[in-house]
Amino acid sequence: MPLVTSKELLQAALEGHFAVGAFNANNMEQIQGIIDAAVEEQSPVILQVSQGAIDYAGLSYASTMVKVAAQEANVPVVLHLDHGSSFEQNVICLRAGFTSLMFDGSKLPYEDNVRITKQIVEMCTPVGIPVEAELGKVLQSRDNVSEDEVRAAMTDPDQARQFVEETGISSLAVAVGSVHAMTSADAELDIERMKALREKVDIPMVLHGSSGAREDSIVEAIQYGVCKINVATQLNMAFVGAIKQASVDMPDNVDPRKWLSLGRDALKEVVRHKMRTFGSSGQATSSGFASPAKSFRTAELGHLE
Ligand SMILES: [Zn+2]
Repeated sequence: MPLVTSKELLQAALEGHFAVGAFNANNMEQIQGIIDAAVEEQSPVILQVSQGAIDYAGLSYASTMVKVAAQEANVPVVLHLDHGSSFEQNVICLRAGFTSLMFDGSKLPYEDNVRITKQIVEMCTPVGIPVEAELGKVLQSRDNVSEDEVRAAMTDPDQARQFVEETGISSLAVAVGSVHAMTSADAELDIERMKALREKVDIPMVLHGSSGAREDSIVEAIQYGVCKINVATQLNMAFVGAIKQASVDMPDNVDPRKWLSLGRDALKEVVRHKMRTFGSSGQATSSGFASPAKSFRTAELGHLE
């Protein structure tokens, strides 16, 4: 089916107390592994492309591969820009047919974050494309951050309410204890903060850096409004791990398909596990997502592509 936008998808997740996985992909095999998992689990799915992925694959390869994958799948697929770094990058991705955008102004002063986010929302609203923005900072593990630094960067609930009102965003990425690019899943999320955020913010919230957070903690956070969960590092670990093992098992192989297909299979199993954990398995049709009559179908936006 054609791509759908994330707006109604996340709203349905909010009402249904589940979360939709947003999986990062950089190449064809990763996209296929994610889509195959979604089809097998009958789960809606968000395929997200980061600035790094755009640099690596090129924007038109990255976006076209996801569109082809969506076309062949019988589950709702969103093409999302992960951590868009500027107004311009969001314009470019809107024009390339992305059905969900993100501006990450979390490192900017609050006023600048509001100003640029608002500009992007104003650009996207007439064509029905939702925008995610980030308040507080989800830090990078490569910075070797301390507990205190993670705590100091967390999202303030009162400021979050103000930010949502001022910008008109569709979803809010919050910092509640997770850290990007962690290779062990042992961080505990600040559930009390999630509860406080839920009282102040009525739009869907987004968890970044989920690979480093404990799964029981993630499941609890879903009950307090986390509707989109970004997963990258664990997928990369599975994909690369399988290929490393294959290089040991088949040292003389020169056919890339024999190695890459093992990476794809390993990644797919991780995605399936995440979909079951997040509660999105089986939600592709039960909420009417697959119905062609749903308003989030983007066929009418074809002129943008
Ligand atoms: Zn992130």
